[in-house]
Amino acid sequence: MPRRIEIVEVGPRDGLQNDPVLMPTEVKIEFVERLIAAGVTRMEAASFVHPKLVPAMADSDEVMQRVPRRDGVKYIGLALNERGMRRALDAGCDEVNFVMVASEGFGKRNQNATPEETADLFDKIAVLAQDDGVPVSVTISVAFGDPFDGEVPVDTIAMLAERAAKAGAMELALGDTIGVATPWDVRERIDAVRAVVPDIRLRMHFHNTRNTALANAYAAVESGVDVIDASVGGIGGCPFAPAATGNVATEDIVYMFERGGFETGLDLGKLIETAKWLETEGLKHPVESMLSKAGGFPG
Ligand code: MG
Repeated sequence: MPRRIEIVEVGPRDGLQNDPVLMPTEVKIEFVERLIAAGVTRMEAASFVHPKLVPAMADSDEVMQRVPRRDGVKYIGLALNERGMRRALDAGCDEVNFVMVASEGFGKRNQNATPEETADLFDKIAVLAQDDGVPVSVTISVAFGDPFDGEVPVDTIAMLAERAAKAGAMELALGDTIGVATPWDVRERIDAVRAVVPDIRLRMHFHNTRNTALANAYAAVESGVDVIDASVGGIGGCPFAPAATGNVATEDIVYMFERGGFETGLDLGKLIETAKWLETEGLKHPVESMLSKAGGFPG
């Protein structure tokens, strides 16, 4: 049996939130449908943040009303505070992803909170999801470096991981929000988290800002991680991190792992078609991924 790698598609959320093009709601629904046709079963589809701060996510409630509900397809909504958590639950998200910050400089700008404050807030509001029977996960953002503060201590990641697990996070993601990680950083942080919370399911969120995202994904999988975020076309970025670029491209990562003998359950051809659809219709501008240019192999 090939080892399974779960790719969480974040294109409709992280991918679109920083794109210069505001994708209309009906086009977002077509995007989601194309992703499902390519085999995506778990995706970030919405973000319940203030619409003035992230205009591209202003229609998140409507998106959640209109996404196709299919057996086995789960939609994740992002929340940074209590109001976001309540909106995500009201909107019918199958899962809520709460964001902790690993460093104050980014934390203050992204959600006006220090690392400890985000952990305190999660303590308080995780129970809202749990009372509704909705699984809640945590992403630690800027876990590999902060655009304002610089290096982020590994101890902070371990502290936040412990707090997330204690409050009932069913999965913990380490986010390289600004794409500064190297494969050795990835291994070090995974080891540090496992030392304090050995049983929590880990997920990795890499941006390809400095061209290290595929190498980081390889390091994560070699360290035993089975869940990785990616966005079709490699679209995306972060509105509160200067020069942040897109996530690792879904088709690039699927190509690498499938050719390496792993199973992702995703259809490379349909992912590439979706990246090309983004270029010609969905966003009408070029996307970053390599596979959408080169195609798979063998043909
Ligand atoms: Mg991101």
